[in-house]
Amino acid sequence: MNNVRISVKAPAKINLTLDVLAKRPDGYHEVEMVMTTVDLADRVDLTLRDDGRISLDCSASFVPDDIRNHAYKAALLLKERYQVPYGVHLYIDKQIPVAAGLAGGSSDAAATLRGLNLLWNLGLSLDELAEVGAEIGSDVPFCVYGGTAVARGRGEQITHLAPPPPCWVILAKPPIGVSTADVYGNLRVKGIERHPSTENMLRAIQEQNFSLMCRTLGNVLEEVTLNMHPQVRQIKDLMEASGADGVLMSGSGPTVFALVQKEAKVHRIYNALRGFVKDVFVARMLGVPERGNACTNTYGNDTLAP
Ligand code: ATP
Repeated sequence: MNNVRISVKAPAKINLTLDVLAKRPDGYHEVEMVMTTVDLADRVDLTLRDDGRISLDCSASFVPDDIRNHAYKAALLLKERYQVPYGVHLYIDKQIPVAAGLAGGSSDAAATLRGLNLLWNLGLSLDELAEVGAEIGSDVPFCVYGGTAVARGRGEQITHLAPPPPCWVILAKPPIGVSTADVYGNLRVKGIERHPSTENMLRAIQEQNFSLMCRTLGNVLEEVTLNMHPQVRQIKDLMEASGADGVLMSGSGPTVFALVQKEAKVHRIYNALRGFVKDVFVARMLGVPERGNACTNTYGNDTLAP
């Protein structure tokens, strides 16, 4: 093992909208999602290995530490595609709840790609890293860039957006893991009654209109997951009753988030939820790609991951 090490932040994302437009002949769903990053993050430490091997440890013991881990897969794909002779040891400090609809695994993969681009001195653009990321999962390209974007296609067609109006985000995850594949499997695309308006969400962001943003929150997977897991509906109801300005389930769930502008409301909602679920987090929207992805090598220099 070499002693050159860098650390990269892997922020969670939330969906402000998630629409499914069609089921494609290739089996994937055609989606349209407005996503933004929040300051709840994993940390990925990358240590150079001279022996060409890839290895991984995670602070959460139930997360796979082999090729099933998205970060491991990212390292392997990058190594193979660019014929890199080096290896890497990855350590994931897990803060984002797992199988929660917050793209934790995708963000770890994206952070690994950004980190390896530096560690292995590949000089790749974010677009090139996102292309590799698309082979791992449909949320990975967005996570490579971070910030705020609308993702279309399978999730790989990214259009960057301005940050949403600033606000607090209170996230609550009931003690269940939700399989994204199961939720999509239970979705009847032709039966979707109400599609969120991506157009209105883009306008809300452009005009920095917090109230329009809250009114336009929408996720077509919500109904599916709510039917599978009634606890999710209880969390939504509790957030709404506690005065949240906007409430939505993120991704395929089960995490539900509340948006609020007034700090006093944050405490009220947090306290109401804490009596009900253990995993409650208070975060801010990052909105823009974090430049605080500080990477420190063992020689004491600070570099910034893109
Ligand atoms: P998304 O919102 O992109 O669908 P998610 O937040 O719902 O993702 P993840 O936390 O990424 O879900 O985990 C989904 C599954 O992926 C888990 O069951 C886990 O075993 C596996 N997995 C692979 N790599 C990771 C990782 N680095 N962190 C967490 N889970 C991972």
